[in-house]
Amino acid sequence: MRTIDKVYIDGQFVTPHGQELFDLFNPATEARIGQVRLGDAIDARAAVAAAKRAFPAYSRTSKAERIALLHRLHDAVAARTDVLVAAMIEEYGAPQAFVGFSAAHAANLFLDMARTLEAFDFTQTLGGAEVTLQPMGVVAAISPWNSNFGSICGKLATALAAGCTVVIKPSEMSAIQTQVLAEALHEAGVPPGVFNIVNGRGDVVGAELSSHPDVAKVIFTGSTPVGRSIMRAAAETMKRVTLELGGKGPNIILPDADLEAAISTVVAVGFLNSGQACIAGTRVLAPRSRMPEILERLKAAVAALKVGAATDPAVTIGPMVSQKQWDRVQGYIHLGLGEGAKLLVGGEGRPVGLDRGWFVHPTVFTGVNNDMRIAREEIFGPVLCVIPYDDEDEAVAIANDTTYGLQAYVESADLAHAHRVAERLESGRVVINGAPHAPLAPFGGFKQSGIGREYGRYGLEAHLEVRAILG
Ligand code: NAD
Repeated sequence: MRTIDKVYIDGQFVTPHGQELFDLFNPATEARIGQVRLGDAIDARAAVAAAKRAFPAYSRTSKAERIALLHRLHDAVAARTDVLVAAMIEEYGAPQAFVGFSAAHAANLFLDMARTLEAFDFTQTLGGAEVTLQPMGVVAAISPWNSNFGSICGKLATALAAGCTVVIKPSEMSAIQTQVLAEALHEAGVPPGVFNIVNGRGDVVGAELSSHPDVAKVIFTGSTPVGRSIMRAAAETMKRVTLELGGKGPNIILPDADLEAAISTVVAVGFLNSGQACIAGTRVLAPRSRMPEILERLKAAVAALKVGAATDPAVTIGPMVSQKQWDRVQGYIHLGLGEGAKLLVGGEGRPVGLDRGWFVHPTVFTGVNNDMRIAREEIFGPVLCVIPYDDEDEAVAIANDTTYGLQAYVESADLAHAHRVAERLESGRVVINGAPHAPLAPFGGFKQSGIGREYGRYGLEAHLEVRAILG
């Protein structure tokens, strides 16, 4: 049993004013593995005050000093990779391949931002004006349980590169992972108050940060409904917001696709992180002309996925993070059947032999049309919908017929053809043929998948105010 009874404020691990104890679980066994003592609004205010005190000195640091700091943070996180991986498997249950990527990715986010900063100019002359980009002030960074390390490190790296100070509110369900990360970050020798971490409930600590007058900006990753409530709260004091929200990504298999490669990508991106990923490609748009072959290959590939605890390296689908998430996924599978969709593979209930742990069947529905709720709503589990189309215009129309627009996928043997289709998609990112992550490219959503972009220079600019001096 782990007890996490400290928050990190002003460069120190301190006992929070909040007293509520929140249980932490291993999702692969359903065992209670720890408790976190949650901070409250008073703790949030103390963290904002520390960040506000640190801002004048930190905002005047040079580019070289910030780059050096980002390198120290990278080294500190990279040195703890093994501990981070172990914590993520225990508390979150993600499969090993994903966890290995996540820990390395989290550390590298500091290097990526250092690279962006090296090439970034904070001053330019436009006509008769000198235009300077100023750090905004105190940034509140609110993160979800499904991307704890990446979300915290990415937001921290960007805010620090811009010269802002930060209060981080991680998901209350990720407290063990956050503690390991906080210890690593503490070792990097960041001046007190420059970053602070307060565990707590969203509607308590998160809400306080979203409305606090001394917070200049909120950067949030999480669900669209919570993003909406943050935006409403932020409007009162005109806070800047970056919102990274949900998705229902289309994956268009073009008729010319090499199906062996395409189906492998469809499965990899559809069931990414056991399906608990905002960027998952969960609507598979398949040409009617090749439907029988696509379904046959997809069924075989999904049936071969190994479900189980992430302690087994062969496992590709881990448990859902919580009972609530398990119930949600079961509810959607039930709903899909009720809406008239047909099961190609998977279905309700637990996989054979997995009686403990929040495991679900990787599931693929056919006979889906884009008006069904299973095709419109973010399920956040390993559930795919296959939707037929007759021609390219119809494929694009279905892909864009969604309130979301985070990450779309196109599969084709002809790159130029895939690009032409990609250019028609209303999506912050389009990935062709499973292309690797591009860490300096902007990331974020069209429509209700969010506002603004993270990563690289677009992410950095979103933490800066523009001042023009004339004459
Ligand atoms: P969530 O919206 O429930 O919670 C996210 C964070 O917001 C948590 O820290 C939570 O405590 C906090 N929160 C809750 N209510 C709040 C409030 N009223 N005010 C301020 N903060 C509040 O999301 P989740 O269940 O943790 O994560 C899953 C969701 O996140 C999915 O919808 C997924 O698509 C989305 N997501 C998006 C991205 C992206 O980059 N676009 C990445 C990962 C996850």
